[in-house]
Amino acid sequence: MTAPVYERVALIGLGLIASSMFWAIKRGGLAGEVTGYARSEATRETARRIGLCDRVCDSAAEAAEGADLVVLCVPVGAMGRVAEEIAPVLKAGACVSDVGSVKRAVINAVAPHLPEGVHFVPAHPLAGTEHSGPEAGFAELYDNRWCIIVPGAEDTDPEAIAKVRTLWEGMGANVDEMDADHHDLVLAVTSHVPHAIAYTMVGVADHLRRVTESEVIKYSAAGFRDFTRIAASDPTMWRDVFLNNKEATLDILGRFTEELFVLQRAIRMEDGDHLHDYFTKTRAVRRSIIEAGQDTDAPNFGREAPKP
Ligand code: NAP
Repeated sequence: MTAPVYERVALIGLGLIASSMFWAIKRGGLAGEVTGYARSEATRETARRIGLCDRVCDSAAEAAEGADLVVLCVPVGAMGRVAEEIAPVLKAGACVSDVGSVKRAVINAVAPHLPEGVHFVPAHPLAGTEHSGPEAGFAELYDNRWCIIVPGAEDTDPEAIAKVRTLWEGMGANVDEMDADHHDLVLAVTSHVPHAIAYTMVGVADHLRRVTESEVIKYSAAGFRDFTRIAASDPTMWRDVFLNNKEATLDILGRFTEELFVLQRAIRMEDGDHLHDYFTKTRAVRRSIIEAGQDTDAPNFGREAPKP
């Protein structure tokens, strides 16, 4: 086993992302000790019961005290308050990171609270499931997935960045660096707007269900089932994502609406050539995602067929 990257890591918030980090850190022997904190007694109890973290603390400050790396793993809208709470106990030379799905708003909320001599290296692992909570995590979540590091300032210590990179690579991820605004735009396209569309489509079907009784559920085809999986994602997390990546989300949603109108018109005008060309282009996007190793080309995404 290689030497630990950090002597002590503190995970604040113990949901899907933090618990997966803990198991991946343990798998790789990446930290001497991992402390953890969650705001509810129930989550702290669960964490103690399943052995999530070497030490579960009763306050964020207690978990962060003396840590070499503190990772904020709470919803985006809660990052600022947590940073304020831990700021007084951070040791000189410590590094603060986070895993938030939005970067500019988190940097603006967290950076002002951090004392001189503490490094700030935000990050965002592009991995997740529709499950949440301390029992949802698993060590393999980040294997071969991307983690984007978004340094909080231009003069961020390169050594602090390099250590966060080493940690994520040790957890199985491929690491890239990006500017915060660019990150937020890219994620609006690849994740945030697709979630908005899934939430909307499932909402439409839910309204329809009242008309057609259970048919929407009974005959739900693969396309709709995939939407429902995405639309089952944590409501708090996604509320915060949209509120904190408002501009980029609205920009991409505007473009989406324009495209939808063009498609709507092609269907109305029975413009088969347009539809065929459009679907040929989108099929090529799917192929490039598979070639990049970011998904499987097994039928039904490699899932077993549902029982009738
Ligand atoms: P999660 O499973 O719902 O866990 C969230 C954790 O944050 C819980 O321990 C919760 O504590 C705590 N928390 C919630 N609200 C809080 C508040 N107001 N103040 C303090 N603590 C609070 O969430 P997750 O999926 O791990 O997501 C955590 C972060 O990772 C989010 O910023 C999200 O944007 C980001 N992220 C998520 C995904 C994904 O697919 N899920 C992927 C990449 C990044 P209690 O259990 O005590 O309520």
